[in-house]
Amino acid sequence: MPQLISSRVGVVGAGQLARMMGEVASHVGVELSVLALSEDDAAVATADRVVIGDPGDPTALETLARAVDVVTFDHELVDFDLLNAMARDGVVLRPDVAALRFAVDKAYQRVHFAAHGLPVPNFVVVASPSDPTLATFLDGLAAPPVVKVARGGYDGRGVFFPDHVNDVAGLIASLGTVVVVEERLDLRGEVAQLMVRALDGEVAHYPLVSTVQSDGMCVEVRFPSDFSTLAAEAAALGQRIADLVGAVGIIAIELFVTDAGLVINEVALRPHNTGHWTIEGAATDQFSNHLRAVSGQRLGSTEPVVAHAVMVNVVGGDEPAAPNAAMAVVGAFVHDYGKAWRPGRKLGHVTAVDDDAGRARVTAWAGAMAYGTRTRETA
Ligand code: ADP
Repeated sequence: MPQLISSRVGVVGAGQLARMMGEVASHVGVELSVLALSEDDAAVATADRVVIGDPGDPTALETLARAVDVVTFDHELVDFDLLNAMARDGVVLRPDVAALRFAVDKAYQRVHFAAHGLPVPNFVVVASPSDPTLATFLDGLAAPPVVKVARGGYDGRGVFFPDHVNDVAGLIASLGTVVVVEERLDLRGEVAQLMVRALDGEVAHYPLVSTVQSDGMCVEVRFPSDFSTLAAEAAALGQRIADLVGAVGIIAIELFVTDAGLVINEVALRPHNTGHWTIEGAATDQFSNHLRAVSGQRLGSTEPVVAHAVMVNVVGGDEPAAPNAAMAVVGAFVHDYGKAWRPGRKLGHVTAVDDDAGRARVTAWAGAMAYGTRTRETA
């Protein structure tokens, strides 16, 4: 029996991800509404309809839900009680609350993945420095751990690398919230496995990519991955995670590459920064496939259509950004999120595709530098 297609999709949040969903919505027969904090939000320019309000405000959520057939998300800053109440009232959430929990709560994710035998760093979850499990855990470590707030962190905010084990207790006390304390792994690199899962459970994998981080923020994504020999392992791991989480839409898995193999960093249940290259580089971009999945359509092909793609994020530097200068770089695909320039703010991204890996990198970085990104090319 053909599935019912929901043409009216609402997005909680109106950042760049919702903006890029808006750019493709009409191509997949979707009318897109967004819940924006203000008229200045990135997605206001591309959405068919805008509801102004806070994602923590039940009235704003209800206004969005009433205008659409299905609700999806562009960020993880959501309130489970409100979402559960919406689901009880018959609002269709994709992904649903049970799935979202894996992406919203790092403690829940680590505990459940470990219980299912998935590879995660050794960790403990504590709410206070006096928790006795903390001392035992720290005693067994060779190096200071990483401390992560369980909820509300993003782009490296909420992730801490104390210099000494002795600093950990004070840090946890100052954070005053539930944290994951985990071993600091020796990384050979980082990769990301992007997938899309349809309503009927079908999963399509995008090819593995490499990611390069600076200050806890992703600065560059490369297709194909520098670790292509790990592609089958990553795909199999991704499939297990997709089946366990049960999300509908894009599922992005960030993975650490260690000498002992792949270790899960985190999972996101929405279009993801590591999939922006698919706009130019894959048969169906991640935003179209997310909308296809959440609206109940068949998935589009996730096959690459280019030999090499490099995506570089543009993060505000000391000088105002210059997207027009980036557009003058031949071969640079410039995505301007329409945000006001501010040092440290993610303002856009630049992708280059090429038959030659080196040329793709040179072009993408030339575009990002002309744009005024504060990040610097790393080896
Ligand atoms: P966010 O959720 O804010 O993106 P992440 O948990 O992904 O933060 O961490 C940001 C970056 O910090 C990672 O991409 C990685 O480079 C580094 N990192 C995080 N956890 C560890 C760890 N356990 N060992 C080594 N490096 C880590």
